[in-house]
Amino acid sequence: MPQFAARIGRAKPSAIMAVAEKAKRLKAEGHDIISFSIGVPNFLPGEHVYAAVREALTKDSGQYGSNRGSDALLDAFIEHMAQVGLTGYGRVNCATGIGAKHVIYNLAEALLDEGDTIAFAVPYWTSYLDIADIVGARIDLLPCPPEQHYKLTPAQLDAALAKKPKVFLFNNPNNPTGMVYTRAEIDALADVIAKYPDTWVITDDIYNRMVFDGIGYHNFVHSRPELRDRVIFIDSLSKTYGMPGWRVGFMAGPESVAAAVTTMNSNHITNLPEMVVAAAIAALDGPQAIPAAKCAEFQAKRDQVMAVMDSIPGIVCPKPQGAFYVFPDVSAYFGKSHDGKKIANDIDLCNALLESKGVACVPGSAFGEPRALRISYTCPTPQLAPGLERFREFFAELN
Ligand code: PLP
Repeated sequence: MPQFAARIGRAKPSAIMAVAEKAKRLKAEGHDIISFSIGVPNFLPGEHVYAAVREALTKDSGQYGSNRGSDALLDAFIEHMAQVGLTGYGRVNCATGIGAKHVIYNLAEALLDEGDTIAFAVPYWTSYLDIADIVGARIDLLPCPPEQHYKLTPAQLDAALAKKPKVFLFNNPNNPTGMVYTRAEIDALADVIAKYPDTWVITDDIYNRMVFDGIGYHNFVHSRPELRDRVIFIDSLSKTYGMPGWRVGFMAGPESVAAAVTTMNSNHITNLPEMVVAAAIAALDGPQAIPAAKCAEFQAKRDQVMAVMDSIPGIVCPKPQGAFYVFPDVSAYFGKSHDGKKIANDIDLCNALLESKGVACVPGSAFGEPRALRISYTCPTPQLAPGLERFREFFAELN
C-alpha cells in the first residue's frame, strides 16, 4: 500500500474537540450536560454584519479576490489595530487568512524549515504544538507552572532566546490560562527580545479586546517600536465578534512577512470568500457595543468562577484577567476516588466529572499542563451557576 507523508503521522486530532464530542454524544443520549469545554463565544455578530452580507450578495462578482485581502478589509483591520495603539501599519504590512489558525500555519510554513526551533510557553494553545509538528520544527517548551501564575519570566525568555530559536511564539491574553501580561511585564520581556535580533516573534493576541480589571492590552511593539521589524501581530474576528465559523484572521508585521503569507495564501486558498469579506468589514467598521458588553459580561463570569475555585480546598487557581478561560490546578485531588473510581490524573478527573455530574471541562494535558483542567465559561449565563455548583459538589465527593 502507498505510504502517507511523515507529517500526517505527526498531526494529532484535537483533544479539545474529543471532549466536546463526548459531551455532545451524552447530551444526544438525553443526559443533562453543561459544557465548559470548547472556547467559542456565546453570542452572534450584530445585525449590521448580516445586512452587509445580504448587500454583498446583490453585488457578488463571482470572481477571485486578492490573495492578501481586499484593500477595504485591510484598511478596516489597520483602523482596528490603531484602536489598541498599534499604529503606523500600511496595507503592505498586513495579510489575512482563514482564521488566526490559518495565519499561524502560514507563518510556520513561511518562517520555519524542518529542524528549525520554535519556542513557546507551557501551557500552550493546543494547535501551536500540532502546527509546529506538522512543519517538522523542533519545539522548545518553556514551562510556566501555576506557581509563576502561568507567566513567562524575563530570565526564562533570555535563556530560551540565547539558544537562537528561529521563532518565539507568544500568546497574550492566554488560552488556556486567561493570564494577561501587564505593561511592566511586557516591557521586561521586550527588553530581552531586543537582545536577540535573529528570532522572529509572533504575538498571538486574538483575545486583545477581552482584558479585565482595567489592566489594558500591551504588545512588545508598544514597549519598543523598533521591534516592529520582527514582531508579527495576530488577530481574529472569531472571539471578539462572535464569528468563529466565519473564519477571518489577520497578521501585521514586516512587509516581507506579510508578502510571504500572501504567497502562501495564493497557493492554499487564493482569497477569503467575498461574503465573508463583507461581513468582516462590517464587524470591524461597525458599532463596537457587542464586544464591549461581552467583555464586561466575561469579567463578571470570571468573578463567579473564581469565587467557586477559591472556595474549594486544595485547588490552586491563579486569577485570570482576560479571554474566557480559568485554569485551576486540581492535582491535589489526584490519587483520590469518586464513586469508587480512582482519579489518577486530569483525564480521569475530567471523565468522572462529565460522567457523574454532566460537566465537561478539558484536561490540562491537552495544553501541556497535566495538573490542571480548563474551564471555558462561555456557556449561556443561566447554566453557569448550576454548572459551578455541580463542579463544587464533585470535588466535595472526592475521597
Ligand atoms: N489562537 C488562540 C490562542 C486561540 O485560542 C484560538 C482559538 O481558540 C486561535 C488562535 C484560533 O483562532 P481562529 O478561530 O481565528 O482560527
